[in-house]
Amino acid sequence: MSAVLIDGVAVAKSVRAECRVRISRLLQRTGIRPGLAVLKVGDDPASAIYIRNKTKACDEVGIRSVPHYFDRDCDPQAVIDTILRLNCDPSIHGILVQLPLPPQFKVATILRNISPDKDVDGFHLYNVGALAVGEAIFPPCTPYGVLRLLEHEAIPLEGQNVVVVGASNIVGKPMALMLMQRDATVCICHVKTRDLAQFTILADILVVAAGHPNLILPQMVKTGVVVIDVGITRLPDGRLAGDVDFEGVRQKASYITPVPGGVGPMTVTMLLVNTIASAERAAANLHVSMFPGQIAGSSAVKTA
Ligand code: NAD
Repeated sequence: MSAVLIDGVAVAKSVRAECRVRISRLLQRTGIRPGLAVLKVGDDPASAIYIRNKTKACDEVGIRSVPHYFDRDCDPQAVIDTILRLNCDPSIHGILVQLPLPPQFKVATILRNISPDKDVDGFHLYNVGALAVGEAIFPPCTPYGVLRLLEHEAIPLEGQNVVVVGASNIVGKPMALMLMQRDATVCICHVKTRDLAQFTILADILVVAAGHPNLILPQMVKTGVVVIDVGITRLPDGRLAGDVDFEGVRQKASYITPVPGGVGPMTVTMLLVNTIASAERAAANLHVSMFPGQIAGSSAVKTA
């Protein structure tokens, strides 16, 4: 058996075409063009590349991206003040803080100051909770992209054994929640899992997001498995590698995503989808109300 390659570039292209249609309809109907504020602190080269890709993708579909760049040694309060101002700016529908942040920042505090209505990364506690109870507003972009790839290939999820390797807040945990919501039987493994293979061998669908090249070898999967490789590691020779022994595992799998060209293009694309959804919600006057009487994002969060 040689697996069908899931072409993330092609799926992302078709989702972006849908994005353009949604934006032109929204513009025609309401005059609103979706706006994404992009906050970057410092000059991390990888962050610069991610931001360039996101800005380019916004331009491509017609989202207005607005950069806010801060020096590496800036006062975190300056970033919070900007976020609070953007929370109240009706021309901005998404606020993205590029991670990682310098050491003087408490990431959780920064993220909690973003209005849940504009939290297009889906990292605010409110949105995490909404996802956990099956009422996601802005699903985190990477697992959302994985789900779109599985849907695109018409791979059934209900009742399937899905193993997620990696339990981070941005990939593994939300991925597991989204799959549970679709009635899959989900097992989460992480760096402390003993004998990873005894779990991965049971997977009908295996999602790997560990950041560890060649973690998944052919003998660790069953014939016919669907493999989604989220991992991205830059090898010493400059090439990008996923977490799966691609050449070996593709001989046993029914479907597999390549790296690059699998999940990566979908992550940026789902950020566009969330930003458009946010603008549509704003146009329909839909707002998250965290507590009766409270306007979301109206006051700064001080605690970590
Ligand atoms: P992270 O470091 O926050 O989390 C890694 C997770 O993998 C942890 O839960 C850890 O316990 C687990 N893990 C690490 N080594 C393991 C091992 N040997 N066995 C089992 N579990 C192990 O990373 P993250 O932010 O979740 O990202 C994971 C990978 O996905 C990275 O390579 C990252 O670059 C990539 N990533 C890709 C995209 C994309 O768009 N394709 C988006 C986000 C992250």
